[in-house]
Amino acid sequence: MISKKIKDVMISGSAIRAMFEEGKRLAQIHGKENVYDFSLGNPSVPAPKAVNDAIKQIAQDTDALALHGYMLNSGFESVRGIIADNLNSRFGTAFTFKNIIMTVGAAGGLNVALKSIINDGDEVIVFAPYFGEYNNYVANVGGKIVVVPPNPPTFQPDLSALKTLIGEHTKAVIVNSPNNPSGVIYGEDTLKELGAILKEQSKKKGEAIYLISDEPYRELVYGQNAVPFLTKYYDNTIIGYSYSKSLSLPGERIGYLAIPDEAEDSENLIAACSVATRILGFVNAPSLQQLVIGKCIDEKTDVSAYDKNRKLLYNALTQYGFECIEPQGAFYLFVKCPIEESEFIAKAKQYNILVVGGKSFACEGYFRISYCVSYDMIERSLPYFKKLAEETIK
Ligand code: PLP
Repeated sequence: MISKKIKDVMISGSAIRAMFEEGKRLAQIHGKENVYDFSLGNPSVPAPKAVNDAIKQIAQDTDALALHGYMLNSGFESVRGIIADNLNSRFGTAFTFKNIIMTVGAAGGLNVALKSIINDGDEVIVFAPYFGEYNNYVANVGGKIVVVPPNPPTFQPDLSALKTLIGEHTKAVIVNSPNNPSGVIYGEDTLKELGAILKEQSKKKGEAIYLISDEPYRELVYGQNAVPFLTKYYDNTIIGYSYSKSLSLPGERIGYLAIPDEAEDSENLIAACSVATRILGFVNAPSLQQLVIGKCIDEKTDVSAYDKNRKLLYNALTQYGFECIEPQGAFYLFVKCPIEESEFIAKAKQYNILVVGGKSFACEGYFRISYCVSYDMIERSLPYFKKLAEETIK
């Protein structure tokens, strides 16, 4: 018989995946062109050509045993060095290869980081709205999630609420900016203040409270917006990066953790992450993809395609009367439900519009639109969003 814990996860399910499945079902009935599936954050811009070129070149030029064999759990030192240099040149940090641990995407990195610091019963604080999978990652290591309530309409982290929730069991705080699902970038002043709070509270506790920065959307930024680099404001920061969205490689499972020397117990923490990579069963991040990253470090995805989608959707929906904050990054629009959330989601589905309810992000009364889809699909969906607005906005 399967375990009770996994059974609970299966029952609570993933609303996002369920919507995606529903989209496929509806497409069979109504035809693909008549279904408007905004459920999944799967990049719609293909990986840069340089990625496929690098794969071919590496396969051709690298010794097969070296390419496909086991390696250090933290990954190729050469690739980690390239990543460290790239971060240093962009953010004025002082990383070497030792500060970088290659991971199986952001999900793998978060699990490794949490495995390395969480004792049974330790608390991990998150700011709603947040990526629902954090619940599973924290539960995987016997931690307890503590949620700071959402702070609309800006959706910046509510630091006064945070202060009341930090306690003796707090071990880590997770932030995600640009944010899934709100598209908001956390402001520099807010992050500085967050760093100061955590510094003070760590001192009080006599032990570091780690700040885990989940950054799969770091490069997906619009206009003049910039994403502050968190090790500048707080030493005990663990950066979790991923190439899933920045190079459109979600199926390849590649990312890294960056841990600065300034972090408390840094050497041990880095060594622990390496061991956690092994014992969680990843053993190491995919070797071919590591080498691809080494060659494609300066490659970028075409953010302008997402930006075009963002503008079309945001302008149209606000014109119809929907309330939402203009996304600054990532590829999500987080919209207020004019009526009760589940009723709205069901109504949208009647028009074959698939969106994910805010409940999945601990923020009931909203819905998320993933606009990493074709521009054409958005255009075709707009008349139905207009009808939804007419039917639900008083
Ligand atoms: N964190 C956030 C906020 C995400 O939105 C996602 C994926 O959508 C992940 C982590 C997982 O990303 P990865 O594919 O790199 O594991």
